[in-house]
Amino acid sequence: MFDKILIANRGEIALRVVRACREMGIKSVAVHSTADADAMHVRMADEAVCIGPNPSGQSYLSFPAIISACEITGAQAIHPGYGFLSENAAFVQAVEDHDLTFIGPSAEHIRIMGDKITAKETAKALGIPVVPGSDGGVPNLATAKTVAAEIGYPVIIKATAGGGGRGMKVAKTEKDIETAFSTARSEAKAAFGNDEVYIEKYLTTPRHIEIQVFGDGKGKAVHLGERDCSLQRRHQKVFEEAPGPCITPEERARIGKICSDAVAKINYIGAGTVEFLYENGEFYFIEMNTRLQVEHPVTEGIFRQDLVREQIRVAAGLPMSFSQEDLWIDGHAIEVRINAEKLPNFSPCPGKITHYHAPGGLGVRMDSALYDGYSIPPYYDSLIGKLIVHGRDRPEALARLKRALGELIVDGIDTTIPLFHALLEEKDVLSGDYNIHWLEKWLEKNLQ
Ligand code: ADP
Repeated sequence: MFDKILIANRGEIALRVVRACREMGIKSVAVHSTADADAMHVRMADEAVCIGPNPSGQSYLSFPAIISACEITGAQAIHPGYGFLSENAAFVQAVEDHDLTFIGPSAEHIRIMGDKITAKETAKALGIPVVPGSDGGVPNLATAKTVAAEIGYPVIIKATAGGGGRGMKVAKTEKDIETAFSTARSEAKAAFGNDEVYIEKYLTTPRHIEIQVFGDGKGKAVHLGERDCSLQRRHQKVFEEAPGPCITPEERARIGKICSDAVAKINYIGAGTVEFLYENGEFYFIEMNTRLQVEHPVTEGIFRQDLVREQIRVAAGLPMSFSQEDLWIDGHAIEVRINAEKLPNFSPCPGKITHYHAPGGLGVRMDSALYDGYSIPPYYDSLIGKLIVHGRDRPEALARLKRALGELIVDGIDTTIPLFHALLEEKDVLSGDYNIHWLEKWLEKNLQ
């Protein structure tokens, strides 16, 4: 086992990894930019190294700064958290070239899944059902028109290098395809430096269902059921739950096994998420994330497992501490993402926290790096906390979420907390009757 792990991240996820290390008796090293000198992850880790100025390109994304920090502190492994370098194959290669261990999948698996077209082809070859669409990239408008006519409208044009919900455009009819095709391409070029796009059937009322998988890198893999992340704004998740309110045990077992068999076959190591759209009882693969997800705590809640601990174990060459038979679902868990954003436009709202009070009590978990007097810097993501609740069933989890939200105080800045108070009054949210478009429609009607 490692003696010391460096965490190449910040905020709540860096703290999450520090906590796992401490429980395992492993020393942790925080890295930080100048702006984050007073951050909670810096205070909580055993050691901290300043790796550069505020822009993440010169700090949290700097290979030489992070690798030197390992060398200075004697850390043997790097946990990337999510975002930043977590799905950067070149970084993994650099880490390995310096005889350090990357806590996550191999560079090759990251590369395959990072390119959406290769990911889809790989998924198909591994027996995972995919969304009908073009065979690979679509080079020009004429081909786009032919492909779209074959699949049938509406279609969605997506960036091959896409991520974070950017570079996607819907064409409802042939009339829209020209504009959709060219905007998707230019957005893709601007956001990812690569204008290749592909086309998929646009599913009109799907839910977003994702399967958590975990592999030991030696041909053994399990699944930890699904998460329903259908409540999204601009293709970004805001509310996640497990198990999915509409998924039956038979469906879970079937799709779960397809996913765990697939990752076992490629000797996948660590945590991964296979994302699907789900409509009329069918699953359609959209992508695989080769990292720990923001919403992993809902899975930890219902399976009573520590996924970060498990990531560290397998990275150190130890066997997985559970098999499929050990994994059974206990109750229901929900997570809401608290962002430093001002409603109704969700504009970023960094600033000083004048008062912070975290909720507690039975079945409540607050993953946040906030504290009284902390100043949220304007340079990074606006996620400032995740409130996760667990109950014996969905109604109990919802009641607990409402109670816990009522206890949560974040004064000094605007946050998305009022959005969740309002959503918990909605009958569709209470009954679990929503799809990926529900929240956008609700926001249009109620907030804008
Ligand atoms: P990203 O990597 O940018 O997050 P994804 O491929 O994971 O992109 O898609 C993000 C979201 O976009 C999905 O959860 C869904 O809301 C929407 N989406 C993607 N593909 C389709 C599709 N074929 N039909 C309908 N909605 C889609």
